[in-house]
Amino acid sequence: MPQSTPLYRRPAFVFGPPLVMAFAGAILILQSAFGAGQLSLVQTKLNELKETKTPVFSIRNSDWIRAKLDDPNSVFVVVNKHRQINPKSFEPGDLVRVEDSKTLDNSRKLALSVAAAGALEEMAKALSAAGQGKLFLNSAYRSYDYQAELFLGKVKQYGKSEALLRSARAGYSEHQTGLAADVSVPEQGCAILACFGETPAGQWIQENSWRYGFIVRYLESTTAITGYSYEPWHIRYVGKEVARLYHENGMQTLEEFWGLPAAPDYLSATTESTSN
Ligand SMILES: [Zn+2]
Repeated sequence: MPQSTPLYRRPAFVFGPPLVMAFAGAILILQSAFGAGQLSLVQTKLNELKETKTPVFSIRNSDWIRAKLDDPNSVFVVVNKHRQINPKSFEPGDLVRVEDSKTLDNSRKLALSVAAAGALEEMAKALSAAGQGKLFLNSAYRSYDYQAELFLGKVKQYGKSEALLRSARAGYSEHQTGLAADVSVPEQGCAILACFGETPAGQWIQENSWRYGFIVRYLESTTAITGYSYEPWHIRYVGKEVARLYHENGMQTLEEFWGLPAAPDYLSATTESTSN
């Protein structure tokens, strides 16, 4: 394989050639939803790959994908402490109320972006069929204003530094994209607690949520990268193809997957302006 940019030679990012095609294939599938113009762009990229055996990061660094990482309307969007939602008061245009059913308790009448809602309903059915009980939706889409209120509540409850680990400032929460959900299985206990990760349901989610297009976004080992403590209940919809690649390659954070810098803390220029 030819030498690529030194920036991308960290071992975690050295994917094998099969992944090049797998990832490119995934992008092809994902893009089909966005029209023929985009599709031909990807076909051109694929041809380039075949000719040059360029590593997967060239796709990852395509302008099309990089733009989507910033776009809160895209399932590829990456929101973290360095990446405020733009515009910060963004509201998803495709929110739907998640179905309240035999396998999914949405008695709180919460909403998600339409694709994430469908995926969650599908996952709840599978979780229930696997004998893990009924999924409860604790939190889903949150508006900017609601997040601001929630964050201030955490500051009052835990103090500022602990609140920063437990909650996001308004404009920096994945929940505002309509793509993140907090889930629990009340009959197994540990709802919205780290010990949820040790329950069979929590383990099932860790092992299987990718099949439905979700990732567990904040792991025990990734606080230094994400800036958040372990949240085995917080799942983020990224679409099935990305979730599968993420899973198959043992990725632990979206930052790692997309080759973005770690975001353990807010950038100093933004710390105070967004806390209210
Ligand atoms: Zn959450």
